[in-house]
Amino acid sequence: MPEAVQRMSRMLIKTLRDDPADAETLSHRLLVRAGYVRRTSAGVWSWLPLGKRVMDNVARVVREEMDAIGAQEVLLPALLPREPYETTGRWEEYGDELFRLKDRKGADHLLGPTHEEIFTLLVKDQCTSYKDLPVMLYQIQTKYRDEARPRAGVLRGREFQMKDSYSFDTTDEGLAESYRLHRAAYRRIFERLGLEHRIVSAVSGAMGGSASEEFLAPAAAGEDTFAHCPQCDYAANTEAVTHPLRPADTGGHPAPEELDTPDTPTIETLAAHLGVPASATLKNLLVKVDGEITAVGVPGDREVDLGKLAGHLAPATVELVTAEDFAGRPDLVRGYVGPQGLQGVRYLADPRVAPGTSWITGANKPGTHARNIVCGRDFEVDEYLDVAVVESGDPCPSCGTGLELGRAIEIGHIFQLGRKYADAFQLDVLGPQGKPVRVTMGSYGIGVSRAVAALAEQTADERGLCWPAEVAPADVHVVAAGKALQTEFALEVAAKLAAAGVRVIVDDRAGVSPGVKFTDAELIGVPRILVAGRRSAEDVVELKDRRTGAREELTADEAIARLT
Ligand code: ATP
Ligand code: MG
Ligand code: MG
Ligand code: MG
Repeated sequence: MPEAVQRMSRMLIKTLRDDPADAETLSHRLLVRAGYVRRTSAGVWSWLPLGKRVMDNVARVVREEMDAIGAQEVLLPALLPREPYETTGRWEEYGDELFRLKDRKGADHLLGPTHEEIFTLLVKDQCTSYKDLPVMLYQIQTKYRDEARPRAGVLRGREFQMKDSYSFDTTDEGLAESYRLHRAAYRRIFERLGLEHRIVSAVSGAMGGSASEEFLAPAAAGEDTFAHCPQCDYAANTEAVTHPLRPADTGGHPAPEELDTPDTPTIETLAAHLGVPASATLKNLLVKVDGEITAVGVPGDREVDLGKLAGHLAPATVELVTAEDFAGRPDLVRGYVGPQGLQGVRYLADPRVAPGTSWITGANKPGTHARNIVCGRDFEVDEYLDVAVVESGDPCPSCGTGLELGRAIEIGHIFQLGRKYADAFQLDVLGPQGKPVRVTMGSYGIGVSRAVAALAEQTADERGLCWPAEVAPADVHVVAAGKALQTEFALEVAAKLAAAGVRVIVDDRAGVSPGVKFTDAELIGVPRILVAGRRSAEDVVELKDRRTGAREELTADEAIARLT
């Protein structure tokens, strides 16, 4: 069915001459000015007709490619009960980012930031045999995260649209295949959307061997820094880049190794304090304090200075969790030393718990953590201890060539979760031999609303938005440039185009000068602009390419033939 012509005289659209006062990024400025989105409260946005169209186009491409790999679309609630998140510990671990609320009976709920728990329970309910697997499920849904710094318009919202999918397999090979399918689908999605992107390693990969990669869209407005090698195909989020510790990283202090002191409490002290056998649980040690993860050890490590923890914390508030807790939490994987040296230094020691002291620190040789590092003295730390240590020119871990750094927007993230959630909920299916088999999972996200902003960032120019055809809110923007009679002519051309299946916006607003209409057309950013009725009487139109600015004069029929 041909679409109706969108008449600007009747559309809910008000373009703005001036940038909104609080907007620092290009996409934020332009999406607001061109009437695509409107701020409702901090990090919460309303999508107006043009914006809704673009987001729907992004969602359509995502759907088509997810369907093509055999994933099935579902829609789960955003309003979720506390219990499943209690089971996995995320009710607490999510911290301030989680929107928590109570119902009238006082029961706790949350607004879903991501849905691993609920999907795991769904599959537990629906799948009983290995024959029911593998299964891949996805949804395109509103997500809620009480971001510390909602910014840049829809780029980082507190309410936003995400495509999240989850794969369920009985074998590691199966999981690897589900992951591979998603990775390929994501490449196709971003290619079709016209989003320039790079796939980068998201975490060191040292934790339980789980693979995690991010899809980053290079853009100045991005909040992620990635390192890439101009020689080989190495690319990683700087948080995951490996490089040897340099003196600069320690703020001029001796390297961590040399700060060791003989009176450092041992791991046995901590083990005793926690009432656990030192040998059994100190692999991939993670400590929760009052429910929040605050410290981390490394595999087989006997040198972790957790002893201080004992002095700072009452026993009742401290508990151990296992390596599985790392899955799905790349933000926890910092300060680990792998075979290639230091892999990021966002320490997990929480300065709010022990001001000025970090009990868990950086690391300076494979398989160990250094002792007695003080954040702020040995490393610069900000509120969240986010320290980028990789610098442009650092050697590529693969080939040694100088790395280049770039800013980018995280538009997608794929993750092999393994059995963390299946363990938490005892998600088993009956295997071929009639014995239960524990299921292994992957989770995969795309920021659908964020992709709109990322596209705007990458494609806009000084005149305004400039959409790739696949996502544009229309194919052609017809400008009625003359008086009433010519407006009829413009509407006629628009109707013919629409009848031929072309998506058309026509600027038929009365009392708006042609100059303003041209400016608005460029701001709105539909790929082709067709100016009708400038030359009175004649059946001549001007067809302009929004991106290149190339224009030609044609008869209306020629133009229609060209566009259909
Ligand atoms: P970020 O590092 O930007 O905070 P994230 O790593 O917390 O993102 P994921 O949990 O990996 O996000 O979620 C999957 C995808 O959802 C992200 O890759 C991103 O595209 C999108 N996304 C996450 N948070 C937001 C947000 N606040 N606003 C818009 N999109 C978001
Ligand atoms: Mg986040
Ligand atoms: Mg991230
Ligand atoms: Mg992520």
